[in-house]
Amino acid sequence: MKLRKSLLAVLATSLLTGNLYAADDEVVVYSSRIDELIKPVFDAYTKETGVKVKFITDKEAPLMQRIKAEGKNAVADLLITVDGGNLWQAEQMGILQPINSEIINANIPSQYRSSTNAWIGLSLRARTIVYAPDRVDEGELTTYEALADKNWDGRLCLRTSKKVYNQSLTATMIETHGEKETQKIVEAWVNNLATDPFSDDNAVILAVDAGQCDVGIVNTYYYGRLHKANPKLGAKLFWPNQNDRGVHVNLSGIGLNKYAPHKEQAIKLVEWMTGPTAQRIFADTNQEFPANPAVAPSEEVANWGKFKADTMPVEVAGKRQAEAIRLMDRAGWR
Ligand code: FE
Repeated sequence: MKLRKSLLAVLATSLLTGNLYAADDEVVVYSSRIDELIKPVFDAYTKETGVKVKFITDKEAPLMQRIKAEGKNAVADLLITVDGGNLWQAEQMGILQPINSEIINANIPSQYRSSTNAWIGLSLRARTIVYAPDRVDEGELTTYEALADKNWDGRLCLRTSKKVYNQSLTATMIETHGEKETQKIVEAWVNNLATDPFSDDNAVILAVDAGQCDVGIVNTYYYGRLHKANPKLGAKLFWPNQNDRGVHVNLSGIGLNKYAPHKEQAIKLVEWMTGPTAQRIFADTNQEFPANPAVAPSEEVANWGKFKADTMPVEVAGKRQAEAIRLMDRAGWR
């Protein structure tokens, strides 16, 4: 009876997932990153090793729920998603298992991995300041916190606080300044807004470019994509907090399913994804920073210049996420 039940479960899963149920020399990935960002990496891996990588893409929440629901009848070996805040959530849900690999530990700095190695950063993005050089003197800019000054009244654009990127940035500010001080800063940001928060980072950059506001806070790859498509883009990036903690850097990363059916193959794939070939592809397809510091960024990214990054472990974004959400809500950041 027990056997029959699990057979039925497997059958049901295969029906639901079509041909996703993989053979022994295959790896299955659930990814919240879209096809065009991950397929080139998997294609290169298959070409090099002969191992096939099957994947589906969806938003992170349904993918994590699906892994949880599949439990021991797991289909997916690996979960790819963005932001330490999301990866930390997956770890808390108990759907990941640690990867202990000397190769990965050597390739990826510890601040960009979970302290338990339940997830590993594959590519990095800074959440930084974008400004209009025709209306803002670079010397006026210093820190994220200074965007709370009266000088920026009616000049700031932000994305919605519903997005994990802003929750993570706020979480790191709570870690640095404590809750009281951070709330003061965030309230002042909200008071300085030129317009209601936008639904995405592109809109923030385009609003700065179009003169709707003078400064904003965005992830670097959005800027990189827009700037590559339109080299005449007027908005520019600024690296804040260079005299203190540095720029907030977050990541896209990967975790091993607690019940991964092809664990060994999956770990080999993750190891390879932290190496030069995959890191190069990540860097070039989405204008992100390679998480492996031995790999150079793309020309577009290199042109932004070097900067000091915050060395705070990215998992702080997850640990303080709930506090950050409550704080942003109290501050009226919609
Ligand atoms: Fe994004």
